Amino acid sequence: MILRYGTITAMYFSPLEDALRRFGKREFRPMQRELMECALRGRSCIGILPTGSGKSLCYQIPAVLMDGVALVVSPLIALMRDQVSGLEKLGVAAARYDSSLSDEEKEALMASLKSGGVRLLFAAPESLESSWMKQALEHVSPGLFVVDEAHCLGQWGHDFRPDYLKLGRAIEAMGRPQVAALTATATPRVRDDILEHLHLEDPVTIVRGFARENLHFRITACDTHKEKYKRLYDLVKRNKTGIIYCSTRKKVEQVYEALSDLGLSVTAYHAGMTDAQGEEAQKAVMNRQADIVIATNAFGMGIDRADVRFVAHFEIPGSVEAFYQEAGRAGRDGRDAYCELLFNHADLRTQEFFIEGVNPGVPLIVELYELLRKHCSAESHEVSWT
Ligand code: ADP
Repeated sequence: MILRYGTITAMYFSPLEDALRRFGKREFRPMQRELMECALRGRSCIGILPTGSGKSLCYQIPAVLMDGVALVVSPLIALMRDQVSGLEKLGVAAARYDSSLSDEEKEALMASLKSGGVRLLFAAPESLESSWMKQALEHVSPGLFVVDEAHCLGQWGHDFRPDYLKLGRAIEAMGRPQVAALTATATPRVRDDILEHLHLEDPVTIVRGFARENLHFRITACDTHKEKYKRLYDLVKRNKTGIIYCSTRKKVEQVYEALSDLGLSVTAYHAGMTDAQGEEAQKAVMNRQADIVIATNAFGMGIDRADVRFVAHFEIPGSVEAFYQEAGRAGRDGRDAYCELLFNHADLRTQEFFIEGVNPGVPLIVELYELLRKHCSAESHEVSWT
Protein backbone atom coordinates (compact mmCIF):
# COMPACT_ATOMS: atom_id res chain seq x y z
CA MET A 1 0.00 0.00 0.00
CA ILE A 2 1.38 3.44 -0.92
CA LEU A 3 0.04 6.61 0.67
CA ARG A 4 0.85 9.94 -0.89
CA TYR A 5 0.66 13.34 0.71
CA GLY A 6 -2.89 14.61 0.60
CA THR A 7 -4.59 11.35 -0.27
CA ILE A 8 -5.77 10.26 3.14
CA THR A 9 -7.61 11.84 5.99
CA ALA A 10 -6.04 11.10 9.32
CA MET A 11 -8.20 9.68 12.06
CA TYR A 12 -8.49 11.38 15.41
CA PHE A 13 -5.99 10.01 17.86
CA SER A 14 -5.86 12.00 21.04
CA PRO A 15 -2.82 10.40 22.76
CA LEU A 16 -0.83 11.41 19.70
CA GLU A 17 -1.85 15.04 20.08
CA ASP A 18 -0.96 14.97 23.75
CA ALA A 19 2.42 13.48 22.98
CA LEU A 20 3.01 16.06 20.26
CA ARG A 21 2.51 18.81 22.84
CA ARG A 22 4.83 17.04 25.22
CA PHE A 23 7.44 17.30 22.47
CA GLY A 24 6.79 21.04 22.30
CA LYS A 25 5.01 21.05 18.93
CA ARG A 26 1.58 22.40 18.17
CA GLU A 27 0.67 20.74 14.89
CA PHE A 28 1.68 17.70 12.95
CA ARG A 29 3.66 18.34 9.85
CA PRO A 30 2.42 16.61 6.70
CA MET A 31 2.56 12.83 6.94
CA GLN A 32 3.88 12.75 10.50
CA ARG A 33 0.57 11.65 11.94
CA GLU A 34 0.12 8.97 9.28
CA LEU A 35 3.54 7.50 10.03
CA MET A 36 2.92 7.55 13.77
CA GLU A 37 -0.48 5.90 13.44
CA CYS A 38 1.00 3.25 11.24
CA ALA A 39 3.62 2.43 13.89
CA LEU A 40 0.98 2.40 16.62
CA ARG A 41 -1.17 -0.01 14.62
CA GLY A 42 1.73 -2.43 14.47
CA ARG A 43 2.40 -2.03 10.74
CA SER A 44 5.86 -1.82 9.26
CA CYS A 45 6.41 1.23 7.12
CA ILE A 46 8.79 3.03 4.84
CA GLY A 47 8.65 6.81 5.19
CA ILE A 48 10.17 9.02 2.53
CA LEU A 49 9.97 12.60 3.69
CA PRO A 50 12.20 15.52 2.81
CA THR A 51 14.98 16.73 5.06
CA GLY A 52 13.65 18.94 7.83
CA SER A 53 10.15 17.48 7.67
CA GLY A 54 10.44 15.98 11.15
CA LYS A 55 11.08 12.29 10.57
CA SER A 56 12.59 11.77 14.04
CA LEU A 57 9.32 12.65 15.73
CA CYS A 58 7.58 9.96 13.65
CA TYR A 59 9.28 7.24 15.68
CA GLN A 60 9.97 9.14 18.90
CA ILE A 61 6.30 9.71 19.66
CA PRO A 62 5.18 6.11 18.96
CA ALA A 63 8.15 4.94 21.03
CA VAL A 64 6.90 6.79 24.11
CA LEU A 65 3.33 5.62 23.55
CA MET A 66 4.15 1.96 22.95
CA ASP A 67 5.20 -0.70 25.40
CA GLY A 68 8.79 -1.85 25.41
CA VAL A 69 11.90 -0.44 23.85
CA ALA A 70 12.27 1.09 20.40
CA LEU A 71 15.61 0.21 18.87
CA VAL A 72 16.82 2.92 16.50
CA VAL A 73 19.64 2.20 14.09
CA SER A 74 21.48 5.30 13.06
CA PRO A 75 24.61 5.66 10.92
CA LEU A 76 26.49 8.25 12.96
CA ILE A 77 27.48 8.57 16.60
CA ALA A 78 27.04 12.36 16.41
CA LEU A 79 23.49 11.88 15.16
CA MET A 80 22.69 9.51 18.02
CA ARG A 81 24.22 11.82 20.60
CA ASP A 82 22.07 14.73 19.43
CA GLN A 83 18.93 12.63 19.47
CA VAL A 84 19.59 11.24 22.94
CA SER A 85 20.39 14.62 24.47
CA GLY A 86 17.31 16.19 22.83
CA LEU A 87 15.08 13.42 24.21
CA GLU A 88 16.63 13.60 27.67
CA LYS A 89 15.86 17.31 27.79
CA LEU A 90 12.21 16.40 27.20
CA GLY A 91 12.34 13.84 30.00
CA VAL A 92 12.22 10.84 27.66
CA ALA A 93 14.41 7.92 28.72
CA ALA A 94 16.80 7.47 25.79
CA ALA A 95 20.26 5.99 25.51
CA ARG A 96 22.77 5.03 22.87
CA TYR A 97 25.01 2.03 22.44
CA ASP A 98 28.15 2.30 20.34
CA SER A 99 31.82 1.47 20.45
CA SER A 100 32.75 4.71 22.22
CA LEU A 101 31.08 3.67 25.52
CA SER A 102 33.31 2.64 28.42
CA ASP A 103 32.81 -0.70 30.16
CA GLU A 104 31.15 1.06 33.11
CA GLU A 105 28.78 2.90 30.80
CA LYS A 106 27.87 -0.34 29.05
CA GLU A 107 27.17 -2.00 32.38
CA ALA A 108 25.00 0.87 33.58
CA LEU A 109 23.09 0.85 30.30
CA MET A 110 22.48 -2.88 30.55
CA ALA A 111 21.12 -2.44 34.07
CA SER A 112 18.77 0.32 33.03
CA LEU A 113 17.55 -1.69 30.02
CA LYS A 114 16.84 -4.68 32.27
CA SER A 115 14.89 -2.52 34.70
CA GLY A 116 12.76 -1.05 31.91
CA GLY A 117 14.36 2.39 32.24
CA VAL A 118 14.96 2.94 28.51
CA ARG A 119 12.28 3.76 25.92
CA LEU A 120 14.52 4.48 22.97
CA LEU A 121 17.86 2.79 22.41
CA PHE A 122 19.99 4.18 19.59
CA ALA A 123 22.60 1.87 18.14
CA ALA A 124 25.15 1.87 15.36
CA PRO A 125 24.43 -0.83 12.74
CA GLU A 126 27.71 -2.64 13.36
CA SER A 127 26.94 -2.92 17.08
CA LEU A 128 23.84 -5.05 16.55
CA GLU A 129 25.91 -8.18 16.32
CA SER A 130 28.06 -7.39 19.36
CA SER A 131 27.91 -9.73 22.35
CA TRP A 132 26.67 -6.82 24.50
CA MET A 133 23.69 -6.32 22.21
CA LYS A 134 22.97 -10.03 22.05
CA GLN A 135 22.91 -10.14 25.83
CA ALA A 136 20.70 -7.04 25.97
CA LEU A 137 18.25 -8.59 23.54
CA GLU A 138 17.87 -11.59 25.80
CA HIS A 139 16.26 -9.27 28.33
CA VAL A 140 14.34 -6.85 26.14
CA SER A 141 12.66 -7.49 22.84
CA PRO A 142 12.19 -4.33 20.82
CA GLY A 143 8.61 -3.52 19.93
CA LEU A 144 9.69 -1.14 17.19
CA PHE A 145 12.83 -1.36 15.07
CA VAL A 146 13.67 1.94 13.41
CA VAL A 147 16.08 2.27 10.51
CA ASP A 148 17.08 5.92 10.27
CA GLU A 149 18.71 7.12 7.02
CA ALA A 150 17.41 3.94 5.41
CA HIS A 151 18.83 4.92 2.02
CA CYS A 152 22.18 3.71 3.41
CA LEU A 153 20.82 0.26 2.44
CA GLY A 154 20.78 1.17 -1.23
CA GLN A 155 23.76 -0.53 -2.77
CA TRP A 156 23.59 1.77 -5.78
CA GLY A 157 22.93 4.86 -3.70
CA HIS A 158 25.29 7.64 -2.70
CA ASP A 159 25.53 6.78 1.01
CA PHE A 160 25.71 2.99 0.92
CA ARG A 161 26.81 1.52 4.26
CA PRO A 162 27.68 -2.18 4.08
CA ASP A 163 26.83 -2.59 7.79
CA TYR A 164 23.23 -1.74 6.95
CA LEU A 165 23.02 -5.03 5.05
CA LYS A 166 23.22 -6.85 8.39
CA LEU A 167 19.99 -5.29 9.56
CA GLY A 168 17.76 -7.89 7.90
CA ARG A 169 19.52 -10.63 9.84
CA ALA A 170 19.25 -8.64 13.08
CA ILE A 171 15.51 -8.16 12.53
CA GLU A 172 15.06 -11.91 12.01
CA ALA A 173 17.09 -12.65 15.15
CA MET A 174 14.83 -10.33 17.16
CA GLY A 175 11.76 -12.23 16.08
CA ARG A 176 10.67 -9.73 13.41
CA PRO A 177 9.48 -6.69 15.33
CA GLN A 178 7.64 -4.11 13.27
CA VAL A 179 9.99 -1.87 11.33
CA ALA A 180 9.94 1.83 10.46
CA ALA A 181 12.47 2.69 7.74
CA LEU A 182 12.92 6.42 7.21
CA THR A 183 14.85 8.47 4.71
CA ALA A 184 14.77 11.71 2.75
CA THR A 185 15.91 10.24 -0.52
CA ALA A 186 15.11 6.90 -1.99
CA THR A 187 14.75 6.27 -5.65
CA PRO A 188 12.46 3.33 -6.55
CA ARG A 189 15.57 1.19 -6.86
CA VAL A 190 16.76 2.11 -3.36
CA ARG A 191 13.22 1.56 -2.06
CA ASP A 192 13.37 -1.96 -3.49
CA ASP A 193 16.71 -2.49 -1.74
CA ILE A 194 15.16 -1.38 1.55
CA LEU A 195 12.24 -3.79 1.12
CA GLU A 196 14.46 -6.65 0.13
CA HIS A 197 17.17 -6.29 2.76
CA LEU A 198 14.83 -5.66 5.66
CA HIS A 199 12.52 -8.48 4.49
CA LEU A 200 9.49 -6.21 4.87
CA GLU A 201 6.23 -7.82 3.86
CA ASP A 202 3.53 -5.49 2.65
CA PRO A 203 4.73 -2.41 4.53
CA VAL A 204 2.85 0.87 4.31
CA THR A 205 4.91 3.23 2.15
CA ILE A 206 4.42 6.89 2.90
CA VAL A 207 5.90 9.31 0.40
CA ARG A 208 5.74 13.02 0.96
CA GLY A 209 7.54 13.82 -2.22
CA PHE A 210 10.68 15.82 -2.54
CA ALA A 211 9.56 19.36 -3.17
CA ARG A 212 10.46 21.90 -0.50
CA GLU A 213 8.89 25.21 -1.23
CA ASN A 214 11.35 27.27 0.78
CA LEU A 215 14.33 26.06 -1.26
CA HIS A 216 15.26 28.11 -4.32
CA PHE A 217 17.42 26.23 -6.80
CA ARG A 218 19.71 27.76 -9.37
CA ILE A 219 22.45 26.55 -11.67
CA THR A 220 24.97 29.19 -12.72
CA ALA A 221 27.22 28.41 -15.66
CA CYS A 222 30.72 29.68 -14.86
CA ASP A 223 33.40 29.65 -17.52
CA THR A 224 36.23 30.51 -15.16
CA HIS A 225 37.22 30.09 -11.54
CA LYS A 226 37.10 33.83 -11.16
CA GLU A 227 33.43 33.79 -12.07
CA LYS A 228 32.78 31.02 -9.54
CA TYR A 229 34.42 32.96 -6.75
CA LYS A 230 32.55 36.13 -7.71
CA ARG A 231 29.24 34.25 -7.52
CA LEU A 232 30.27 32.56 -4.29
CA TYR A 233 31.20 35.83 -2.58
CA ASP A 234 27.84 37.19 -3.60
CA LEU A 235 26.03 34.18 -2.10
CA VAL A 236 28.04 34.40 1.10
CA LYS A 237 27.48 38.14 1.44
CA ARG A 238 23.74 37.85 0.94
CA ASN A 239 23.08 34.71 2.96
CA LYS A 240 25.76 34.61 5.69
CA THR A 241 25.23 30.99 6.83
CA GLY A 242 25.91 28.14 4.49
CA ILE A 243 27.69 25.03 3.27
CA ILE A 244 29.95 25.01 0.25
CA TYR A 245 30.50 21.57 -1.23
CA CYS A 246 33.61 20.78 -3.29
CA SER A 247 34.52 17.53 -5.02
CA THR A 248 38.05 17.15 -3.64
CA ARG A 249 39.95 17.82 -0.44
CA LYS A 250 42.38 20.03 -2.35
CA LYS A 251 39.56 22.22 -3.61
CA VAL A 252 38.10 22.44 -0.07
CA GLU A 253 41.43 23.83 1.10
CA GLN A 254 41.66 26.33 -1.77
CA VAL A 255 38.14 27.67 -1.23
CA TYR A 256 38.71 27.74 2.53
CA GLU A 257 41.77 29.92 2.06
CA ALA A 258 40.02 32.23 -0.36
CA LEU A 259 37.14 32.80 2.05
CA SER A 260 39.33 33.04 5.16
CA ASP A 261 41.14 35.89 3.47
CA LEU A 262 37.86 37.79 3.46
CA GLY A 263 37.75 37.64 7.25
CA LEU A 264 34.67 35.36 7.42
CA SER A 265 34.02 32.80 10.15
CA VAL A 266 34.69 29.72 8.05
CA THR A 267 35.70 26.17 8.76
CA ALA A 268 36.64 23.23 6.55
CA TYR A 269 35.72 19.57 6.69
CA HIS A 270 36.88 16.54 4.71
CA ALA A 271 37.63 12.90 5.36
CA GLY A 272 41.40 13.51 5.24
CA MET A 273 41.26 15.32 8.59
CA THR A 274 41.91 13.56 11.88
CA ASP A 275 38.86 12.57 13.93
CA ALA A 276 39.63 15.37 16.40
CA GLN A 277 39.88 17.99 13.64
CA GLY A 278 36.65 16.76 12.08
CA GLU A 279 34.83 16.84 15.39
CA GLU A 280 36.12 20.34 16.08
CA ALA A 281 34.86 21.55 12.69
CA GLN A 282 31.43 19.99 13.28
CA LYS A 283 31.22 21.54 16.74
CA ALA A 284 32.18 24.94 15.35
CA VAL A 285 29.27 24.71 12.94
CA MET A 286 26.78 23.47 15.51
CA ASN A 287 27.85 26.05 18.14
CA ARG A 288 27.62 28.84 15.58
CA GLN A 289 31.30 29.71 15.91
CA ALA A 290 31.57 29.12 12.18
CA ASP A 291 28.82 30.22 9.85
CA ILE A 292 30.28 28.83 6.68
CA VAL A 293 31.69 25.37 6.17
CA ILE A 294 33.57 24.28 3.09
CA ALA A 295 33.46 20.54 2.75
CA THR A 296 33.50 17.43 0.66
CA ASN A 297 30.49 15.12 0.66
CA ALA A 298 31.86 13.61 3.91
CA PHE A 299 30.14 16.47 5.73
CA GLY A 300 26.52 16.84 6.56
CA MET A 301 24.79 13.74 7.79
CA GLY A 302 23.80 14.38 11.36
CA ILE A 303 24.38 18.11 11.23
CA ASP A 304 21.23 19.53 12.70
CA ARG A 305 21.68 23.23 12.12
CA ALA A 306 18.37 24.62 11.01
CA ASP A 307 19.44 28.09 9.86
CA VAL A 308 21.63 27.12 6.91
CA ARG A 309 20.61 29.80 4.40
CA PHE A 310 22.51 28.54 1.39
CA VAL A 311 24.19 25.43 0.03
CA ALA A 312 26.57 26.05 -2.84
CA HIS A 313 28.09 23.32 -4.96
CA PHE A 314 31.41 24.70 -6.13
CA GLU A 315 31.58 21.71 -8.47
CA ILE A 316 29.01 19.31 -9.80
CA PRO A 317 28.33 16.47 -7.32
CA GLY A 318 28.40 12.76 -8.15
CA SER A 319 24.69 12.14 -8.63
CA VAL A 320 21.32 13.83 -8.58
CA GLU A 321 20.51 12.05 -5.30
CA ALA A 322 23.73 13.31 -3.70
CA PHE A 323 22.95 16.81 -4.96
CA TYR A 324 19.47 16.76 -3.46
CA GLN A 325 20.65 15.28 -0.18
CA GLU A 326 23.35 17.95 0.19
CA ALA A 327 21.31 20.88 -1.08
CA GLY A 328 18.51 19.70 1.23
CA ARG A 329 20.60 20.68 4.25
CA ALA A 330 19.59 24.27 3.57
CA GLY A 331 16.53 25.83 5.16
CA ARG A 332 15.57 23.16 7.67
CA ASP A 333 13.87 25.92 9.66
CA GLY A 334 11.38 26.34 6.81
CA ARG A 335 12.57 29.83 5.89
CA ASP A 336 13.78 30.74 2.40
CA ALA A 337 17.13 29.25 1.48
CA TYR A 338 19.21 29.14 -1.68
CA CYS A 339 20.82 26.17 -3.37
CA GLU A 340 23.20 26.99 -6.17
CA LEU A 341 25.34 24.82 -8.39
CA LEU A 342 28.30 26.58 -9.99
CA PHE A 343 28.65 24.62 -13.17
CA ASN A 344 31.76 24.31 -15.27
CA HIS A 345 31.89 21.56 -17.87
CA ALA A 346 35.47 20.60 -17.01
CA ASP A 347 34.39 19.62 -13.46
CA LEU A 348 32.61 16.60 -14.92
CA ARG A 349 36.02 15.02 -15.40
CA THR A 350 36.56 14.80 -11.61
CA GLN A 351 33.30 12.90 -11.14
CA GLU A 352 34.08 10.67 -14.13
CA PHE A 353 37.41 9.88 -12.50
CA PHE A 354 35.63 8.88 -9.24
CA ILE A 355 33.09 6.79 -11.16
CA GLU A 356 35.87 5.01 -13.04
CA GLY A 357 37.60 4.40 -9.70
CA VAL A 358 34.66 2.56 -8.19
CA ASN A 359 33.75 0.78 -11.42
CA PRO A 360 37.04 -0.64 -12.69
CA GLY A 361 37.03 -1.85 -16.27
CA VAL A 362 37.58 -5.44 -17.40
CA PRO A 363 41.36 -5.03 -18.11
CA LEU A 364 42.02 -3.84 -14.55
CA ILE A 365 39.95 -6.64 -13.01
CA VAL A 366 41.76 -9.24 -15.18
CA GLU A 367 45.12 -7.74 -14.23
CA LEU A 368 44.25 -7.89 -10.52
CA TYR A 369 43.00 -11.44 -10.88
CA GLU A 370 46.25 -12.51 -12.55
CA LEU A 371 48.27 -10.76 -9.86
CA LEU A 372 46.35 -12.50 -7.09
CA ARG A 373 46.67 -15.85 -8.85
CA LYS A 374 50.39 -15.39 -9.26
CA HIS A 375 50.87 -14.67 -5.58
CA CYS A 376 48.49 -17.24 -4.26
CA SER A 377 49.90 -20.48 -3.02
CA ALA A 378 47.72 -23.30 -4.33
CA GLU A 379 48.02 -25.31 -1.10
CA SER A 380 47.56 -22.73 1.61
CA HIS A 381 45.54 -20.10 -0.28
CA GLU A 382 47.70 -17.51 1.40
CA VAL A 383 48.41 -14.32 -0.44
CA SER A 384 52.00 -13.15 -0.54
CA TRP A 385 52.58 -9.54 -1.55
CA THR A 386 56.36 -9.62 -1.72
P1 ADP B 1 14.38 15.26 9.38
O1 ADP B 1 14.96 14.08 10.12
O2 ADP B 1 13.16 14.92 8.60
O3 ADP B 1 15.40 16.00 8.56
P2 ADP B 1 14.09 16.35 12.01
O4 ADP B 1 13.41 15.21 12.64
O5 ADP B 1 15.54 16.54 12.31
O6 ADP B 1 13.88 16.31 10.43
O7 ADP B 1 13.28 17.67 12.35
C1 ADP B 1 13.68 18.92 11.83
C2 ADP B 1 13.23 20.03 12.76
O8 ADP B 1 11.80 20.13 12.70
C3 ADP B 1 13.57 19.78 14.23
O9 ADP B 1 14.02 20.99 14.77
C4 ADP B 1 12.24 19.37 14.85
O10 ADP B 1 12.15 19.72 16.22
C5 ADP B 1 11.24 20.17 14.02
N1 ADP B 1 9.91 19.57 13.97
C6 ADP B 1 9.59 18.28 13.74
N2 ADP B 1 8.25 18.09 13.74
C7 ADP B 1 7.70 19.30 13.98
C8 ADP B 1 6.34 19.79 14.10
N3 ADP B 1 5.31 18.98 13.98
N4 ADP B 1 6.17 21.11 14.36
C9 ADP B 1 7.23 21.94 14.48
N5 ADP B 1 8.51 21.56 14.38
C10 ADP B 1 8.76 20.26 14.13
